[in-house]
Amino acid sequence: MKIAFLGLGDIGHLMAAHLARDPFDLVVWNRTPLKSEDFARTHKARVAATPADAVRDAAVVITCLPSSVEVEAVLHGENGMLDALRKGAVLVDCTSGDPPTSRSIAAELGGRGVEFIDAPVSGGTIAAKAGTLTVMWGGETTIFERVRPVIEAFGKKIVHAGPVGSGDALKAVNNALLAVHILSAAEGLAILVKAGVDPKVALDVINASSGRSNSSENLIPQRVLTRAFPRTFRLALLEKDIGIAAVMADDLDARTPLLSLTAERFHEAREIFGEEADHVEAVKMVEQENGIEIK
Ligand code: NDP
Repeated sequence: MKIAFLGLGDIGHLMAAHLARDPFDLVVWNRTPLKSEDFARTHKARVAATPADAVRDAAVVITCLPSSVEVEAVLHGENGMLDALRKGAVLVDCTSGDPPTSRSIAAELGGRGVEFIDAPVSGGTIAAKAGTLTVMWGGETTIFERVRPVIEAFGKKIVHAGPVGSGDALKAVNNALLAVHILSAAEGLAILVKAGVDPKVALDVINASSGRSNSSENLIPQRVLTRAFPRTFRLALLEKDIGIAAVMADDLDARTPLLSLTAERFHEAREIFGEEADHVEAVKMVEQENGIEIK
């Protein structure tokens, strides 16, 4: 099965690695060619020079780009995918995209005999490496069945969220909750550090109690207490996800003040720490504001 994978970023290159083996025949494209050339040196894959070249023969095309803006760009830009996509091909967009753009891409491609599903992932780089990502997809079941083996190569829990755009919607809200949990855990621990409680002791109790979250159980012990702050998921991308959730809330007339405040706070964190910072570095903003370190 001929597969094209576009976007070998922090998570994309780990997902593509599961497709660089039989029965798949993989071609990769990345904006910065150095990354695709490196990938092909260590994996069974060919490098395409442009998005159009990547998708010309592909039955399944996977995009894993920062946002739907870049998916649009790779579709419509110079040497873009649009005119090169084969009739009958399926575009599986694993970007954490936005629902309206995914719906408009699906409609445009549908008119050309090309199918589309949105299929964002969760589980981070650890699950991506292990091939155990959670995949939440939106679209038609008959289309999904055609790409199921491809998605199963990197996904373990694979869930139909609803029509096109539903995977994006679910992903944006999940990540908005992640953002809330990171900041709320950091604020809670900041109070405790100021009160003289050892944050390791605090986490030991919180993680055996009802205040726990993935942030308190994994992110803060592994990345903040250790001061390691590894780059696995850019803060800018998490800010983008909360932004998608905030726009959804507006469009749907949902009252979500907590999510709005978290979106503002992540916007501030992005201004402070820049485009290359990891999402957990938002904790540093809370630390700086309180003149403490959680360690
Ligand atoms: P990265 O920022 O690490 O990589 C982004 C990729 O998109 C790179 O290949 C980059 O190319 C490419 N790109 C950026 N801008 C453009 C453009 N204008 N045209 C073409 N290509 C472009 O992102 P991730 O791999 O971390 O994330 C990809 C998607 O997956 C995002 O939507 C993210 O929210 C989501 N995600 C990420 C997770 C993670 O743990 N990292 C977890 C779950 C979802 P180049 O190499 O040239 O910069």
